[in-house]
Amino acid sequence: MLNFTVGPVMMNDEVRALGAEQVPYFRTAEFSAVMQESERLMLKLTGAPQGSRAVFLTSSGTGAMEAVVMGTLDSSDKALVIDGGSFGHRFCQLCELHHIPYQAINPAFGHGVSEGDLAPFAGQGFTALLVNLDETSTGVLYDLPLLGRFCRENGMFLVVDAISAFLCDPIDMAASGVGVMLTGSQKALACPPGASVVVLAPPALERIGRIVPQTMYFDLRNALKNGERGQTPFTPAVGTMLQINLRLRQVDAIGVEAEVAKVAAQAADFRQRVSSLPFSTVSLSPTNAVTPLEVAPDADAHHIFELLKDEYGIWICPNGGELAHRVFRVGHIGNLTPADNAALVGAFQDLLARGELGGR
Ligand SMILES: *Cc1c(COP(=O)(O)O)cnc(C)c1O
Repeated sequence: MLNFTVGPVMMNDEVRALGAEQVPYFRTAEFSAVMQESERLMLKLTGAPQGSRAVFLTSSGTGAMEAVVMGTLDSSDKALVIDGGSFGHRFCQLCELHHIPYQAINPAFGHGVSEGDLAPFAGQGFTALLVNLDETSTGVLYDLPLLGRFCRENGMFLVVDAISAFLCDPIDMAASGVGVMLTGSQKALACPPGASVVVLAPPALERIGRIVPQTMYFDLRNALKNGERGQTPFTPAVGTMLQINLRLRQVDAIGVEAEVAKVAAQAADFRQRVSSLPFSTVSLSPTNAVTPLEVAPDADAHHIFELLKDEYGIWICPNGGELAHRVFRVGHIGNLTPADNAALVGAFQDLLARGELGGR
């Protein structure tokens, strides 16, 4: 199997081997020590400011998004949501559902957000900004330092969904004034799906202390309290938590900058190899995590995805909705190498010769 989707992605051999082990009982000093080490590593790898905490949830990334919206915002807030694709839109839906007053910014397709785009929202009483740092549906990376400055100037709490940006693009929570960052297990962490991590800076902890929880399973107060002794309120995905711990130690061993550089090099290598094929670029502000490509008018992106899967054993990532037949995405996260890029581009060349890429 060769998997270029954006999650689940290819796991390395050590992480896979750990997944084959028996899953241990977890109310033990040994498991607590592992979780406390994972918390410490998450704080280090995200550049979290002094006094921050990290909690581990057993839910996909969307569960972490919902826990953060419920735990750190309330009806006295006025949120600004960057809604540049399906994941940005999910934050709008969560605000709607949980009665958080909000307004959306809708950047043009494939575009980032500029200083000028934000200017009309300055001094308008907004209390929080919600962004998916990498809007994975369009491959757009937003400018975190710019968003951080805007929030600082306007006294806004910055919520960053970094589900596909963590370990792909640089994130320094302290430098950018990020209030809360969240990520998931199956993107660049390259572990099985089903777990997520929330990193909470002091402003987030202050909010959680003040907002009365309206949920049992996603109660961040309870998660923080249990986390003090390296535990979770309920049975976590124990095996996946052990794999996350291993991955965090692996990343820490080479340094987070080197890990980001590896993903950047994998993306640059793919973009260079694919440049002569009849595809066009979608993202004008590209993330390292993924490359969305638009196919020629006489080709079908979903059909290309099916052909690669069924005839070549290669998975790329289809798009949903309106773009399903126009755009597919190629991920650069997980245990992939330039040789894997060469194999994928070889398959594209074969499809070109078969007339399946159009553009003739
Ligand atoms: C993948 C992703 C999600 C959703 O994660 P699930 O694990 O499917 O819930 C949310 N936001 C971003 C930016 C993502 O890339």
